Amino acid sequence: MTILDYTQDELKEFIKPAFRVKQIYKWIYQNYADTYEQMHTIPKTLREELEKNYSLMPLSVAKEEQSSDGSIKYLFALHDGKTIESVLLPMKQEEFDEDGKRIHHTRYTICISSQVGCKIGCSFCLTAKSGLLRNLSTGEIVAQVLLIKKLNGIDSERRVNIVYMGMGEPLDNLNNVSKAVKIFSDIDGLSISPKRQTISTSGLSSQIKKLGNMNLGVLLAISLHAVDDELREELMPINKHYDIRSIMNAVREFPIDVRKRVMFEYLIMKDVNDDIKSAKKLVKLLHGIKSKVNLIYFNPHEGSPYNRPPKSSVEKFRDYLNAHGVTCTIRQSKGLDISAACGQLKERSEK
Ligand code: SAH
Ligand code: SF4
Repeated sequence: MTILDYTQDELKEFIKPAFRVKQIYKWIYQNYADTYEQMHTIPKTLREELEKNYSLMPLSVAKEEQSSDGSIKYLFALHDGKTIESVLLPMKQEEFDEDGKRIHHTRYTICISSQVGCKIGCSFCLTAKSGLLRNLSTGEIVAQVLLIKKLNGIDSERRVNIVYMGMGEPLDNLNNVSKAVKIFSDIDGLSISPKRQTISTSGLSSQIKKLGNMNLGVLLAISLHAVDDELREELMPINKHYDIRSIMNAVREFPIDVRKRVMFEYLIMKDVNDDIKSAKKLVKLLHGIKSKVNLIYFNPHEGSPYNRPPKSSVEKFRDYLNAHGVTCTIRQSKGLDISAACGQLKERSEK
């Protein structure tokens, strides 16, 4: 059991008096305490009791790889020896201060896993190979962000973004993921607003509806990758159960902030889905949806039948979308020189 599994309200059920909970939260999430002993404002008897029953950190670093662009990929070990991946992606941004002077500012995005393995079985994805080993607990999800902030000395007040784009299908572990969203956003804790948390899904339409009904305020990303059902079924067998139309219907009902848009991820593969005909269909498909498209270069791995398209065809695809009213960007392949797309650091270290 880890204390990171619990919201403040839940902790108040067994930690008395209740005001101690807020103090403990701050010790954990803002002061990055390593031990209960360090929490010197908490009475010794309570500290000892917590120490006996709840671990403060359910993860340990099994492996770490730094990329030349600054991103750091972690392989974390869980208590049962299973491993998951998380990535810290620092992005330099140019901003201007009040005097109009140019300043550089780093924004952090942390990519986290929601399951060990995945049962969705996408043909291009390494995580799919192992099948689903188990769901991550809420605490194991929360711990990825906490530990990465701590390991990198990222000030507790620094804003970070979270993307649920690591291993696993977050909507297949909706209970634990939605609770993690709430714990992340607690202002006495990490204080990461739901608006800075993006849940990426392979398109489980009924779960998208459920998530929408929870009204958490999170952002939604859809891993679309294909514009017709035939190809999508080939790439993502889940499409047999939830076809493109059902996904679009679920997206249309999803509550989004007026200033935000739903992100559509499109893994672009040479001679598979990189043609302008597909771009055309994509424009049609997204008609009337507040959306943006993110093109992702396919990252080849051993045994995969797909290839990376040339830059020119990816740019042509992007330009077509932008010219036809659909905002489209190409994802900078951060960390391509490390083990890039999720699942690959894990696979290499097991060899
Ligand atoms: N299961 C969820 C979230 C995790 S996958 C989902 O599928 O959306 C996160 C992203 O990694 C997905 O958009 C997926 O398409 C991408 N991905 C998987 N394998 C990849 C590869 N070989 N190269 C590049 N991106 C990949
Ligand atoms: Fe699972 Fe996402 Fe990989 Fe598909 S792409 S197998 S849904 S992790």
